[in-house]
Amino acid sequence: MSTIPSTTGGSSSSSSSITSTTDAETLRRNRILASKLYFDVPLSKVPLIYSPSYDIAFLGLEKLHPFDSSKWGRICRFLIVDGVLDKNHIVEPLEATKDDLLVVHSESYLSSLKSSLNVSIIIEVPPVALLPNCLVQQKVLHPFRKQVGGTILAAKLAKERGWAINVGGGFHHCCGEKGGGFCAYADISLCIHYAFIRLNISRVMIIDLDAHQGNGHEKDFSNDRRVYILDMYNPEIYPFDFEARRYIDQKVEVVSGTTTNEYLRRLDEALEVAGRMFDPELVVYNAGTDILDGDPLGQLKISPDGITDRDEKVFRFAREKNIPLIMLTSGGYMKSSARVIADSIVNLSKKCLIDMGSSSGKI
Ligand SMILES: [Zn+2]
Repeated sequence: MSTIPSTTGGSSSSSSSITSTTDAETLRRNRILASKLYFDVPLSKVPLIYSPSYDIAFLGLEKLHPFDSSKWGRICRFLIVDGVLDKNHIVEPLEATKDDLLVVHSESYLSSLKSSLNVSIIIEVPPVALLPNCLVQQKVLHPFRKQVGGTILAAKLAKERGWAINVGGGFHHCCGEKGGGFCAYADISLCIHYAFIRLNISRVMIIDLDAHQGNGHEKDFSNDRRVYILDMYNPEIYPFDFEARRYIDQKVEVVSGTTTNEYLRRLDEALEVAGRMFDPELVVYNAGTDILDGDPLGQLKISPDGITDRDEKVFRFAREKNIPLIMLTSGGYMKSSARVIADSIVNLSKKCLIDMGSSSGKI
């Protein structure tokens, strides 16, 4: 909002605020229409989006981080080795520019990312605070901005093909004004605003099944009736955002220690309710794998097969209603996560819920 010229001194504050809201909407719309992130993808490609620059690995710092910061590349390598994906069929997105990010983010928030200290706090890697900003931009924020470009493009591809998977993205703790929990940009909010304007969509359902509460998109769409949020999360872990919880349309709390059968039973119920309450034109599925048994952050006990079943249920939900769906990989950075995600994508392909373009399954 800081990019909007202020209209101070007017006698009627309500009319000036209406004017500035309209100006803000026009500016947002113009930025979205001018963006290059939506580009035409040839039919020879499959709607699986990834770039080698998604992966964060530099100066050995990745070893200090408790996360597998190259999981995105490993997911693709598993799929290629398994023979379900031809690497020439992967869609590479563009990097989101500052103008693209201003669709949701404020100038002041983006300026705050010029501080290495601020970035180190957001991504929870303290040594990053000691690096010069140019290195932080190139090695940390550039990969994230590529992933943001992937999430935004995914909605266009899903509208055209029925589904799309961004092998990265899902930064659900970031809202327009604030980052946190490894999330520097609000890719989900951005993606939805682009879809409103460029795809002429007016009803979006977010199904957030990462172990953590998705407080970023919840704040961004707090009073927006066009977005229905189903969030299934562990209330005993970060971010404890009680204000944002008020903006969830269907809140499903799964406490630490919840096991696979119980989790899937509650998911079935939640999807059934969501399908009755809202009729979306796009589903944004935040498919974090930090619900896996053994994940130090999620504290849940879902088996690898449980992840496969979970993803299949969400894809079936969208398919039965003929709603385009995008999947984002979000949190879950154990070494085993990449294999679990790849196995789930293979299952979706086998069940014909996605078409990876290779009818024989071989390259
Ligand atoms: Zn998470």
